[in-house]
Amino acid sequence: MKYQEIYLDHQATTPCDPEVVQAMLPFLTAEFANSSSPHLAGKRAGQAVAQAREELATLIGALPTEIIFTSGATESNNIAILGVASDSRDRRTTIVTTAIEHKSVLGPCEWLSSRQSKIALCPIQRDGTIDLAPLSELLTEETLLVSVQMANNEIGTIQPLREICQLAHSVGALVHTDAAQAIGKLPADVVNIGCDLMSISAHKFYGPKGIGALYINPNTAGRKISPISFGGGQEGGLRPGTLNTASIVGLGKAAALAREQLESENERVRSLRDRLENRLLSRVAGCMVNGAAAHRLSHATSITIPDVDADALSANLPRIAISPSSACTVGTPEPSHVLRSIGLSDELAYQTIRLALGRFSTKREIESAAEQIAQVSLKLRAAR
Ligand code: PMP
Repeated sequence: MKYQEIYLDHQATTPCDPEVVQAMLPFLTAEFANSSSPHLAGKRAGQAVAQAREELATLIGALPTEIIFTSGATESNNIAILGVASDSRDRRTTIVTTAIEHKSVLGPCEWLSSRQSKIALCPIQRDGTIDLAPLSELLTEETLLVSVQMANNEIGTIQPLREICQLAHSVGALVHTDAAQAIGKLPADVVNIGCDLMSISAHKFYGPKGIGALYINPNTAGRKISPISFGGGQEGGLRPGTLNTASIVGLGKAAALAREQLESENERVRSLRDRLENRLLSRVAGCMVNGAAAHRLSHATSITIPDVDADALSANLPRIAISPSSACTVGTPEPSHVLRSIGLSDELAYQTIRLALGRFSTKREIESAAEQIAQVSLKLRAAR
């Protein structure tokens, strides 16, 4: 795939894989029927949806019946958190989460805290991972849900989810994980992890935007989740609305490609990412890699370049797509809540860039980007 620019912002979004586009096209043209319709055309659309559900289920070790399609991880996170919290059968009131979650987890939690729920934030260590000892102290018979992301969208740190699930389940709490950044990058088997709910977003792994899914364990979370919107009863009544067949097909294809390519792709991008990091660290004195001490995603890096303003760096490199902070919080004048939570000062947070490589990144691009970023950083630093 050719880009005019060097695209290093794959944590914000990925391009659709050409094979995903090909798989979707018939469902944007001839095969336009409603997948719930009883006629032949409807049945064909329904079959395509069923196949996509199966592909995604296989990728995460679930059953197709345990997956509902949504518009993306934002909606999945909202359904999981608000849906569990609004179940009147449960008397538990506390939700445990962390300060480095995506805003689509923190937002519903904040909303609930002004109503019926108590929100407890588990401390995050300097390397970006959750501290299990304080987590286990926070967990009580009052804990309804623990919501912890699988991998962070800014620093890429991977959380010890199996341990988190064991601790939470020992007090009878459910576990939700926002896996938007992890799917297609890490093996994410729901049975192995032991989570009750998992949020997924297609556009983070070479599928289309505006489509995602929520895995719901029917024996645990499935008994305790209520709908938060109402309509025609699709997706088990939890996500009503006519299914977005073309995008669902795209999600299914992206899941199949992820399963085939995950391991080899990881190895390839890890070596390119390490090359990029090493080049920057050796060319620009004082650079620090956030989360470096932890297990982290192999395609991404968060680098603080002291005395170099990340916005200025990005503005001076218009042909390289880098992210001065999380794209999801762009427009917010505040420094990244993730970087603050792992102990960076506001000043250093403003001097941090996020770089994330992808399936179509080449060695040549990475070398060119590393050189340009280093040169502009040194120039900006000298001009201070
Ligand atoms: N969670 C995380 C960790 C994310 O990185 C994102 C996307 N920035 C989301 C949730 C939201 O996903 P979507 O764009 O599919 O709503």
